[in-house]
Amino acid sequence: MKAAFSKIFGRKETIPPESENMDISSPTIVTHNVHVTYNANTQSFEGIPEAWKKMIGGAITEDELESNPAAAIAAVKFYKYSIRRKETDVKLIPTEEVIQEESEAIEHIFETVKESSEIIENNTSADKVVEDEVGSKEEEEDSANHVSTVPQMTVDQVDRANVNDIESPVQVRMKHCGKLTDEQIMGHFKQICSPKNPETVYERDKELGAGASGTVFIAQERASGRKVAVKDIDLDKQPKKELILNEIRVMKEIRHENLVNFLDVFLLNNHLWVVMELLDGGPLTDVVTETVMKESQIAAVCHHTLRGISYLHLNGVIHRDIKSDNILLGKDGSVKVTDFGFCANISGDEKRQTMVGTPYWMAPEVVNRKHYGKKVDIWSLGIMAIEMIEGEPPYLKETPLRALYLIACNGKPEVPSWTKLTPEFQDFLNQCLEVDVDRRASAEELLAHKFLTKAVSTTTLKPLIEAAQKILGKRISHAT
Ligand code: ATP
Ligand code: MG
Repeated sequence: MKAAFSKIFGRKETIPPESENMDISSPTIVTHNVHVTYNANTQSFEGIPEAWKKMIGGAITEDELESNPAAAIAAVKFYKYSIRRKETDVKLIPTEEVIQEESEAIEHIFETVKESSEIIENNTSADKVVEDEVGSKEEEEDSANHVSTVPQMTVDQVDRANVNDIESPVQVRMKHCGKLTDEQIMGHFKQICSPKNPETVYERDKELGAGASGTVFIAQERASGRKVAVKDIDLDKQPKKELILNEIRVMKEIRHENLVNFLDVFLLNNHLWVVMELLDGGPLTDVVTETVMKESQIAAVCHHTLRGISYLHLNGVIHRDIKSDNILLGKDGSVKVTDFGFCANISGDEKRQTMVGTPYWMAPEVVNRKHYGKKVDIWSLGIMAIEMIEGEPPYLKETPLRALYLIACNGKPEVPSWTKLTPEFQDFLNQCLEVDVDRRASAEELLAHKFLTKAVSTTTLKPLIEAAQKILGKRISHAT
């Protein structure tokens, strides 16, 4: 998953990195049991590993732990799970199938905590869960569950790929066990890539920024003068090339006016050039943090975002990372969803880099590890609407772990400006931020919501985009 979770955590605060890449590999099939019991006499949990206690310490008070232990434990487990994912993890397009597999695997780890009952984690799913139990006591307490969400690989490949990512004093011998050799994979890339040298088709220009998977730069098509965005991915640095291959195949099929569309792909010296539409107005984040949007403009952004989401859902794709950073704007006001495909993984500020996932926008059912699906995107849209009202999502000032706890615990967040909103907008938010997934509206249903009839043309976003770019000193269109 960026799979489930790509980058990102908050925009401002930082948290210390927890995981480092290790050179040695570890056993492929191990189990790890944590026994947490609730003592009704002392009204406290016993058996919580020291490392967890330390982590809970600053984020969740004892009173909170007692009043809602299930939410606290769910938050800590989810946090530990997410933080261990590596930068090298490639984001998969989260089809329902991918999510189903992932959810089943994670259920082992994220057993619902029941008061007055013994909680036993027993992660024995050899093909999905790999955990280190052979290390020192400290390591054991701190060991995390590592879940693969990689249906395209063989079980053995998955295990070996995963064990390379986790800490263990036991070295296992690496064998080539894949279905495809590197040579075969490169052969497939050659097949799906345009045969031309991209440098003869495009002139490379200014860099726009870098994500974990590569850099994005502006390029100009020599023949037409059209400007595009190109993501440059160094394949030598990608451990899971097969996944990228698969993602490109899927992305080629997905096309909608409210998505940042894929245009072409080339191979140059083991670098992929993934050519996309250029959105020269920057991310919606710049607009929400720097300017004040009217309801009619918020309705317009929600409408266009929903059209993109609805198209993805109709094609069996769940975005799972809807937030203002992933809505790119054109200078003309066009609104497009990005990062629904591969390689959108960890980057940005330290907090976002450290924990893989975006807790502030996360639906409660994701934190609580219930089976979840398309409707997580609807919840995130509701949170994004709050960003458009308030300038930031709920709990952004909290640490990621505390934010997870608050999401698991509180359900629908408070909106400070609630009373200033029209009844239609309030109802729209209620539909998005409904904790009960079955009662939460679908993208299709929301497209017919009365609030959207308030939407004005997205060209009215132009002055906001210009103001935000001026304040932030960004000018994509002048970059070339
Ligand atoms: P992540 O790796 O999670 O996606 P990211 O979005 O910061 O993190 P990239 O996707 O590599 O990293 O993008 C780098 C920068 O380029 C970001 O500032 C992003 O907004 C910008 N960018 C990406 N795609 C486009 C595009 N099609 N048009 C304009 N800017 C883009
Ligand atoms: Mg990105």
